[in-house]
This record gives sequence, C-alpha cells and structure tokens, in this order.
Amino acid sequence: MKLNETLLNIMDKQDTENDFEAMDDHMMSSLETPLRPDAFDLTDQEKITIIAGHFKEIMHTLGLDLTDDSLKGTPHRVAKMYVKEIFQGLHPDNKPVIRRFENKYMYNRMLVERDITLYSSCEHHFVPIIGKAHVAYIPGEHVIGLSKLNRIVQYYARRPQVQERMTMQIANELKQALQTEDVAVLIEADHLCVMSRGVNDVTSSTITAEYGGLFQEEHYRSEFLSHIRKK
Ligand SMILES: [Zn+2]
Repeated sequence: MKLNETLLNIMDKQDTENDFEAMDDHMMSSLETPLRPDAFDLTDQEKITIIAGHFKEIMHTLGLDLTDDSLKGTPHRVAKMYVKEIFQGLHPDNKPVIRRFENKYMYNRMLVERDITLYSSCEHHFVPIIGKAHVAYIPGEHVIGLSKLNRIVQYYARRPQVQERMTMQIANELKQALQTEDVAVLIEADHLCVMSRGVNDVTSSTITAEYGGLFQEEHYRSEFLSHIRKK
C-alpha cells in the first residue's frame, strides 16, 4: 500500500513536470477555453477587488514599496485591466452580437478582411501576443457586417490564449455566424514570451491557419493568400 502510494506520487510528479514542459512548448489542450462552471459567479467588481489584493501581494513579495506614489495604484489598475480589457473575452456577456443579413447583392466571391489588429495574451506566461489576423469567407445566403469580423477576432483574442486554439475558435465562430463552412483564418503573431524571455528570439513569429470548406481547395486557398500578401 505504502509503496503504491509512493509510486503514485512519483507518477503524479512526473506527469506534472511533463505538463509544465508541454505548456512551455505551447501545446494545445482543447478547443474550449478551460473555464470552471462557477467562472462567472462573481461580479466583475468582485473579481477586480480580489485580483487587486492578490496582485498587491505579488508586488509586495517582489519587495516593491506599495506606499510609493507611482506604485500604489498599480494593483487596482492591473486588476481592472485584466477583467475589463485584456481578458474581457472570457465573459460570454461580452460576445459580439452578430446579425445575419440576407446576401441581397448576390456577391458570392471571396470576401477578405485582412490585417485585423490582434492583441492577446499567452496563457502560459500572461504576457502579450501581438499580431494580425486575416479572415475570409465565401458568402452563401448570408452576410454579416464587416466590423463583426474584427469583433469576433477581438473577442477570442481578449482572453488567456494559445494561438492554435484562438485560430480554431475564430474559425468556428465565423462558420456559425455565417452559416457556411467556407471560412479561412490566418494569424501571424509575435509572442512576447518567446521574444523577451526564454529563448529571447526577437525575429521569429508564429503563423497558424485554418481552412474550412472550399478553402481546403488549392485554388481558393492561394487566392486568399495572394490577397493577404498584397500591400
Ligand atoms: Zn508563452
């Protein structure tokens, strides 16, 4: 019994260490952002108060003097930024409302929205991911407002993320919103966790792409890629 327990402990420990290594390599776990069922029991204001308290502890532990004029507002500022800005895409209430319009123009060529500004945060290091998203779809019976494409990108970017999951979440949302599989998403981004720490590589960037429906065909995919390459 004792031996088994010890073995279990060792296995547990190894698993945990492997998990950490996997996270450092930015492996994706699943398509849904892992949230607890009670994720939104607290109000935004309650979350800000709690996070500010914890952040104050972090700063204090680092040895910073919280009575200093320049620092004393930081815990609240960071907490508010987390809840109301950079992680607001966690809350389903902030999901953009997408109204579908009938495709009256009968425009059924590719529509590309390129160079959508993307600000996200690496969920393994909580530092920025900065880049561009390019999305495209081929309208069937429905179209949506152009700005909604940007809003969908922003909603999924404003949460702790891994780029692979973010790409898939945006693609799936577009498919649902537009009621078509003919959707493409390409994201090119710089990860501050790669640039400013770890391997300290400031020149590499990460590209992810998802092609649905017709975009799996070479012809459509290369048209999309040629559009986003044009300057
Ligand atoms: Zn990272």
